[in-house]
Amino acid sequence: MNLDFDAPVTQFRAEAAAWLAEHVPARLPSVDTAEGFALHRAFEAELAQARLAAVSWPARYGGRDASLLEWLVFEEEYHAAGAPVRVGQNGLFVLAPTLLAHGTEEQKARILPPMASADEVWAQAWSEPEAGSDLAALRSRAIRTDGGWLLSGQKTWSSRAVYADRAFGLFRSDPEAGRHRGLTYLMFDLHADGVTVRPIPQLDGEAGFAEIFLDEVYVPDRDVIGERGDGWRIAMSSAGHERGLSLRSPARFTAAAARLAGRWQQAGSPDDGSGLAGRVADAWIGARAYQLYGYGLASQAAGAGGGAQASLGKVFWSELDVAIHQTALDLLGPLAELRDTDDARWLDGYLFALAGPIYAGTNEIQRSVIAERVLGLPR
Ligand SMILES: Cc1cc2nc3c(=O)[nH]c(=O)nc-3n(C[C@H](O)[C@H](O)[C@H](O)COP(=O)(O)OP(=O)(O)OC[C@H]3O[C@@H](n4cnc5c(N)ncnc54)[C@H](O)[C@@H]3O)c2cc1C
Repeated sequence: MNLDFDAPVTQFRAEAAAWLAEHVPARLPSVDTAEGFALHRAFEAELAQARLAAVSWPARYGGRDASLLEWLVFEEEYHAAGAPVRVGQNGLFVLAPTLLAHGTEEQKARILPPMASADEVWAQAWSEPEAGSDLAALRSRAIRTDGGWLLSGQKTWSSRAVYADRAFGLFRSDPEAGRHRGLTYLMFDLHADGVTVRPIPQLDGEAGFAEIFLDEVYVPDRDVIGERGDGWRIAMSSAGHERGLSLRSPARFTAAAARLAGRWQQAGSPDDGSGLAGRVADAWIGARAYQLYGYGLASQAAGAGGGAQASLGKVFWSELDVAIHQTALDLLGPLAELRDTDDARWLDGYLFALAGPIYAGTNEIQRSVIAERVLGLPR
């Protein structure tokens, strides 16, 4: 069996690597600041001009019709080049695949091109103060009006909503129907009349999140995805993309593990009996295992392994990310606390990695999904 990439994939890798070598900016300010957000947005516009913003999308929406394998290879080059975090990630990796599967042609043609160029950056609006793990408990309402809907209620923990343009999420459109049934999937403008966005500072002090208050916000029918009342089913397809390969491609972890191994060697390959050498090796092996799992999924006709299978990946990558960053901090010791050095990224990365077992559905919930729906154990 020949496991090498074929010529077109290898050629595409070289093209992407060459473009990135020329265009990746020096480290940008945090994406959770106004200045950083604008600079990240500008970089994404450059990517889109080179038709590298969303390579696996159909060409008519700004992609290249690339295969999933080519997309994984692009991600490898992107992360290896140290390119910036994707400011448009919620749209590109969660909403876009949902629209490609469930949206109308009009929605795809209208929404995808400005998403690719980062002219429109999207936030996710699922969680509410009383509805996190138990998302079906959500209470924000969509009330029928002429030609559309009026949205009211409160969403919370919406990543990057402070600077984003639009958001998508679930709303209760039929209060009489069962918990999961009366929900509709809607998109809305964060600058519309009736929307108030209130920033929530994170552990690092930056406003990476926001609460969103909606007071009779008008949304036309064309911004409903799927049928009225069918929102839960479509939201589960979004969740699969958020947990699986789409939002967190293996490249993110192979690049971090390679940096960790490099830093360990730079420190003189310490193996003082504390187990550090073994943990560096474990991090590298874990990242490589996830990479091979990704190649396997991408090579299957069924695609990127959504549904319950995505929960397996989610538990794996989120725990791997914590382990990689924890190992780096232990390697660096007090040096990890210095700001304005190349090593400062490890502490930032560690703080963010701690959120991995929480966002995209907590790991406790994913373990229940795996137990019931992958392993077939009793509830
Ligand atoms: C970095 C980050 C980014 C986020 N971005 C967004 C975003 O953009 N948009 C958005 O809508 N939301 C976002 N969230 C919110 C995230 O989806 C929720 O935090 C998550 O779903 C958990 O909900 P909760 O915080 O209400 O916790 P809860 O649901 O209250 O859970 C609290 C604890 O109880 C456990 N628990 C709850 N129910 C069960 C159960 N049945 N069995 C076992 N254990 C259980 C949980 O695992 C958790 O440990 C983000 C969160 C983080 C940390």
